[in-house]
Amino acid sequence: MSRDYSVYGLLIGTGASWVPTGIMPLWRSEERRAEAVPVPIWAIQRNGRTIVVDTAFDRALTGDAWASNFSYRPQAEALREIGVDIDEVETVILTHLHLDHATGLDHFPRARFIMQRSEYEFWTGPMSAYPPIARMCPAAVVQRLRSLHAEGRLVFLDGDHELQPGLRLVAVGGHTPGMQMVAIDTSKGTLVLCSDVAYVYENIAQRWPIGLYHDFAATILALERALTIASSDSLAVPNHDIQLWRKEPVVQLV
Ligand SMILES: [Zn+2]
Repeated sequence: MSRDYSVYGLLIGTGASWVPTGIMPLWRSEERRAEAVPVPIWAIQRNGRTIVVDTAFDRALTGDAWASNFSYRPQAEALREIGVDIDEVETVILTHLHLDHATGLDHFPRARFIMQRSEYEFWTGPMSAYPPIARMCPAAVVQRLRSLHAEGRLVFLDGDHELQPGLRLVAVGGHTPGMQMVAIDTSKGTLVLCSDVAYVYENIAQRWPIGLYHDFAATILALERALTIASSDSLAVPNHDIQLWRKEPVVQLV
């Protein structure tokens, strides 16, 4: 059985609160808005191989105005804490292309980046000309994604995909057109890295969606899907809940 995965959450940066982002962590609620916003990457390990989920951010691509709201420590430093050399990482899953997930691309010099084709097409397509869209995925990122595509370093998926035994990508859309989650069979059961299908634990406990979405109905259904796949609520992991990193910047989930 392929249930011997280890999964880590590695904190890269923290913002003081949700308020400057303009986002409600829970749709139409003030709950949790005053709390710190962590920006992590995730590491999935098995047989000495590490797959990274998301890249967090880099000031060079986000611009200073956005990055100045967040503390930062380099992705390489975070991975070193679990014994991983970032230069050796060959596979990075991008759950979606918002700047807090996809502007750390250049920290992974050897990696291929796996994403949904619909996600790439949306953010690099005609909508990228509109300022509110560019605020979530700046022009510099679009340019960088295009050049990585030309280098053959992007892998596009069209829907759900089993990357390797016990490790599945689940395409749900909702928050963004090509949003995907990561489901991992572990010794404790199936764990779901929800990415921004759930920002905080309250999204899960209350079955209440996040407050930023491309397709609201799909966002609600994505959360339902996460909680159907996860063996229990405690194995559904939200992406931006500071509770997870209150004690240490590196947490082992399983
Ligand atoms: Zn996010």
